[in-house]
Amino acid sequence: MNRSKLLLLLIIAVIVGGFLGLDGHKLLTLENLQSHQSAIGQWIDQNLVLAVTGYAVIYVVVTALSLPGATIMTLAGGAFFGNLYGLAAVSIASTVGASLAFLVARFLMRDTLRKRYAETVSKMDRGIEKDGAFYLATLRLVPVFPFFLINLAMGLTAMKLRTYALVSWIAMLPGTFVYVNAGTQLGQIQSTGDIVSANLLLSFALLGLFPLIAKFVVGFIRRRKVYAGWQKPDHFDYNLLVIGGGSAGLVSAYIAAAVKAKVALIEKHKMGGDCLNTGCVPSKALIRSAKAADTLRHANRYGLESVPVKGSFKNIMNRVKDVIAKVEPHDSPERYRKLGVDCISGEASFVSPWELEVKHNDGRTERLTARSIIVATGGKPAVPPIPGLNDMQPLTSDNLWELEEQPQRLLVLGGGPIGSELAHAFARLGCHVTQVEKGERLLAKEDADVSELVLKQFESDGIDVRLKHSAAEFRIEDGEKVAYCDYEGETIRLPFDQVLVAVGRAANTSGLHLERIGVDTLPNGTVPVEDDMSLRYPNVFACGDVAGPYQFTHAAAHQAWYAAVNGLFGQFKRFKVDYRVMPWVTFTSPEVARVGLSEAEAQEQGVAYEVTRYGLDDLDRAIAESEDHGFIKVLTPPGKDKILGAVVVGAHAGEILAEFTLAMKHGLGLNKILGTIHPYPTWNESAKYAAGEWKRAHAPEGILRLLEKLHGWRRGGKNTKALRSTYAPD
Ligand SMILES: Cc1cc2nc3c(=O)[nH]c(=O)nc-3n(C[C@H](O)[C@H](O)[C@H](O)COP(=O)(O)OP(=O)(O)OC[C@H]3O[C@@H](n4cnc5c(N)ncnc54)[C@H](O)[C@@H]3O)c2cc1C
Repeated sequence: MNRSKLLLLLIIAVIVGGFLGLDGHKLLTLENLQSHQSAIGQWIDQNLVLAVTGYAVIYVVVTALSLPGATIMTLAGGAFFGNLYGLAAVSIASTVGASLAFLVARFLMRDTLRKRYAETVSKMDRGIEKDGAFYLATLRLVPVFPFFLINLAMGLTAMKLRTYALVSWIAMLPGTFVYVNAGTQLGQIQSTGDIVSANLLLSFALLGLFPLIAKFVVGFIRRRKVYAGWQKPDHFDYNLLVIGGGSAGLVSAYIAAAVKAKVALIEKHKMGGDCLNTGCVPSKALIRSAKAADTLRHANRYGLESVPVKGSFKNIMNRVKDVIAKVEPHDSPERYRKLGVDCISGEASFVSPWELEVKHNDGRTERLTARSIIVATGGKPAVPPIPGLNDMQPLTSDNLWELEEQPQRLLVLGGGPIGSELAHAFARLGCHVTQVEKGERLLAKEDADVSELVLKQFESDGIDVRLKHSAAEFRIEDGEKVAYCDYEGETIRLPFDQVLVAVGRAANTSGLHLERIGVDTLPNGTVPVEDDMSLRYPNVFACGDVAGPYQFTHAAAHQAWYAAVNGLFGQFKRFKVDYRVMPWVTFTSPEVARVGLSEAEAQEQGVAYEVTRYGLDDLDRAIAESEDHGFIKVLTPPGKDKILGAVVVGAHAGEILAEFTLAMKHGLGLNKILGTIHPYPTWNESAKYAAGEWKRAHAPEGILRLLEKLHGWRRGGKNTKALRSTYAPD
């Protein structure tokens, strides 16, 4: 705790101690007020301004320091100043006092809480941001919750002081009036219990119920408002219409068909979307060829003769196409039709929140209606407006797969997952790759030690990685393509044959006519979705890359479940999407697989953590395969085995990660992983060894010392020191 906090605590302790020591709390009793009422009243008549001011100051101190006596003070306000002045003085003083208490709690405790319970606090903050004013008003109106507790608790949230003071002031007015009014009748009240009479309680209960009723009414009005001006169809062609046949759309349609809803899936291009046609599947096929090339090039690691890699690039790309063709039936219209989905080839756009216009690929146009609509239109590679770039006929993940000739000198723009996966694959296939990244490291979302390991491997595979380089201009000079990059104030010239742009993705929203239904996109181009994946209307949803924030096939599928289920059954129950355990893998070599928090994120969010590392160079299976490099890093709360996050960097990282993901999802700690039998020698044993590292670091030293003594005693020996080191934690 810093000095200013200590000082404030000291001042508070002195005032509170003085108040209690001088029996201040005993002065503030109903009996005291009643017995001195006439004498005090006479004095106030002669010194009204001084009396009101003094009263307000005392009130502020009592409430700010959460001293006992606020109720009596309120009654006294009514008794001595009457309804009008009493209400004014009490409502202002109580608001000021409550705000001071709120500030004190915030100053003393919020940082500590945020550090220790970051997840809970950030969840609370999100709730407060959304409904905080409403909740505060409810708490103020319902006198069940002690006044001082609300002040202190609210101080720990992210609510703005202005909002807090204003809402408190307004919401406390009815209750203050009741108490002040009761104070004017002080002569008749014999105990504070009389205030809480049946009549008064009833009025408070009504006041408490009022905001709940108000919330329901507001929700109803909001829904009515959003649909105002639209004519809802009397009947619908479908229960669900899905726009886009990529990962998100396919899963949405599958779920709808599985629960016997009438569903149509509209796809303007190829079923399977990005993942099958231009994303995960072709890239992983290419990466496999690259890995084979690497194995041949380094066959001597396995006692064989290393050979120069020869082969036809065309054949490699044909293999990629074959792989796509082999996976294609999983996403084909034929399969989905069999499942009960109407597959429509065409482009959809909005007519109303229930109606789409579909331009069929054969030229026909028709309109279709549904109770719910899901937008699953995905994204496309973003090409930044760098002068001259478009003249280079840049490659992107969309058109790359049509390439027939291997580029000799490939310039890759972007050091994120897609840029890195492709840069590494092309380098291993024999291209001279220069990778340009404007940030300080590759895979910037991962921790620095992860990026470092990947960078090392990239450099040893011959990639010319240019960090902190920002591409500023492209030119053709003497028939040669050249990129000019800004690097720490210098201009760097990089000649190349082909440029591959992988600097981010843009959501596909053009042509959907979202403006017709009043849906704006966010600054990053995605559509704004609520927790239940709905857009502006409770019956219109979005999922997958078009919605973000994750751009993975499994994230799209995860969101699709919520969109489909809420779209079909949302009138009865709505489910909120849960991203707490979202794993991902970057398929470079070494692979990088992560779930939960990284160290950098934990620090950013103020989450206390400790790190357990296990080096894959220790794993027998990794050694047997000459792949003994990389590590596992697990974050846990200090002293606990709960997994906050895990990253695996190395061969088969994606597979190893699955165990940590499962453990996190189901609340299993490292002790449970350690207590599970893992077959030998597998890559997954590494998860168990990482758990073992954690256990070793948390060995109960006291018990071990006792055991050491016990064993020494059982041996009948005296000197047991040598054994000690065997059990000592690292
Ligand atoms: C090179 C690369 C590698 C990747 N590797 C991985 C990986 O290894 N693992 C992973 O999890 N993710 C990976 N991804 C990301 C993954 O491909 C996407 O997250 C996923 O495909 C998103 O699915 P989606 O359904 O949201 O969108 P998409 O798959 O893009 O599908 C959207 C579909 O909607 C159609 N459409 C658009 N507008 C309309 C309209 N108006 N009417 C009708 N149809 C329309 C489009 O034609 C498209 O078929 C990779 C991406 C790339 C580019």
